[in-house]
Amino acid sequence: MNDDIPFDKNLQLAPDIADEPTPGVRRIMANNPGPFTFKGTVSYIIGRGKVAIVDPGPDDPAHIAALLDAVRNETVTHIFVTHTHRDHSPAVPAVKAATGATVYAEGPHRAARPLHIGEHNPLDASADRDFRPDIALKDGEVVTSNGWSIEAVATPGHTANHMSYALKEKNTLFAGDHVMGWATSIVAPPDGAMSDYMDSLAKLVRRTETTYFPGHGPAISDAPRFVNYYILHRKAREGSILHRLSKGATDIPTIVRAIYIGIDPRLTGAAGLSVLAHLEDLVARGLVTTEGQPAIDGVYRLVG
Ligand SMILES: [Zn+2]
Repeated sequence: MNDDIPFDKNLQLAPDIADEPTPGVRRIMANNPGPFTFKGTVSYIIGRGKVAIVDPGPDDPAHIAALLDAVRNETVTHIFVTHTHRDHSPAVPAVKAATGATVYAEGPHRAARPLHIGEHNPLDASADRDFRPDIALKDGEVVTSNGWSIEAVATPGHTANHMSYALKEKNTLFAGDHVMGWATSIVAPPDGAMSDYMDSLAKLVRRTETTYFPGHGPAISDAPRFVNYYILHRKAREGSILHRLSKGATDIPTIVRAIYIGIDPRLTGAAGLSVLAHLEDLVARGLVTTEGQPAIDGVYRLVG
């Protein structure tokens, strides 16, 4: 699957050892490899002396110790959080306690839409519901410190509170899980929403940053071109769903079997939620219909 996007799975980075992929940006990867995290969550350190950390990562004592060791004899003034999945934000309290840094993010975890009656949230376990920023950022706000300035770029879709961060001096974007070099982003209702996600991709194409540092995997160069591939991939997936529905009414497991050929079995649940995200969007646009609210166990048909 996803052969259409020029993925880069080449990441020579040992867990919990800092490197400096570009002057002024260090990174350090947690040892939490998995089907959703690739080799691990990547935390970033911006600047020298007085620094900012982007995404302290999971609640893993070894990663927290390695992160604090990497900034020994420096002052961490800011922590920026892209979103509240458990592999990105739970290390915040420990790093804040050790450094006194101020925590910036869009806001606490929240779903993109309310739960339907009888629906349970399959993503509950993945969310860090304890997270609270000290400062809630709005789209376009700029935070300036010692030698760097960060612009908050709201990119909802993967989660409702997903924020990317543009490092103005480097023409670089910390993209969290919104755009990644190694795989497509998961967009899964009710926490995620496809219409938001597509709007956020379109917004990035209009920006000038050429390099992205994602939450998982290697840096992405020629970023706007890469984002265009992401957009084309989603449109192709939507086309595949509409094509399957053109053969008659069907359910999500049948669509997943038809269009996710050769998928890692551990990702089947996520694939089903991703199809649900597309179907919610198609129902909202009046192209597809279902009985009641779009649901994971619903039957879907083309309109007209
Ligand atoms: Zn995530």
